[in-house]
Amino acid sequence: MLLENLNHVKNKIAEALSKRTEPKETGDTVTLVAVTKNHEAQVITDIQALGVMNIGENRVQEAKHKQEDLGHNGTWHLIGHLQTNKVKQAVELFDIIESVDSSRLLEAINTEAEKKDKVQDILLQINIAGEEQKSGFSPDEYEEIKNSLDAFKSIRIRGIMVIAPLTLQDAEEARPIFKEAYQYFCQLKGLRSHIDYLSMGMSGDYHIAIEEGANLVRLGTTLFGERDYSKN
Ligand SMILES: *Cc1c(COP(=O)(O)O)cnc(C)c1O
Repeated sequence: MLLENLNHVKNKIAEALSKRTEPKETGDTVTLVAVTKNHEAQVITDIQALGVMNIGENRVQEAKHKQEDLGHNGTWHLIGHLQTNKVKQAVELFDIIESVDSSRLLEAINTEAEKKDKVQDILLQINIAGEEQKSGFSPDEYEEIKNSLDAFKSIRIRGIMVIAPLTLQDAEEARPIFKEAYQYFCQLKGLRSHIDYLSMGMSGDYHIAIEEGANLVRLGTTLFGERDYSKN
């Protein structure tokens, strides 16, 4: 089942790449992050056995428990909102924090990473659609910080993360947001070195995201089925 789902995803990724009308600055390969939140730790072992080494979790505590069970294999991505009081643990547990959404968080991550002699990879999450409930830098906040990022010596900014509104009827409606996100990526890449990731696309819309330049997609449901939230 999992193998079938993974093969389906791989085909869909290849198909989306072939639909691009022009070469993208994000390159022509896509990294798949398997989103294992709200699933048993075992699914991490299963998907890694199939060669998918990038794991996405949205809560620090859950990732901690899973790493206590399984150890830390592959590359762990934090994709959920991070509270400043969890930063210390997040820096210990995650190879890349995709959901950095405030200058306060940048400062806190920088401080903890420096203490650990680590350079923490991160993505800047931008709330392009301007949704009120959604975290992310607003476009205005982003404009303010984007030229002062060199101050954070223990952080390496690798790119941009975007979540399309979950309320859309049709994935096609997310296309303008993905197009805009790609513009943000290109601009940031022009400003800084080490910019290589544009993380966008979830189970419902990753094919559109890839057509528009995503090179990192975060997939849960389409790989593992529906999440069971009753266990929380
Ligand atoms: C849960 C989650 C995903 C995966 O969503 P699916 O629709 O199950 O693929 C991707 N990105 C973020 C930020 C998430 O919280």
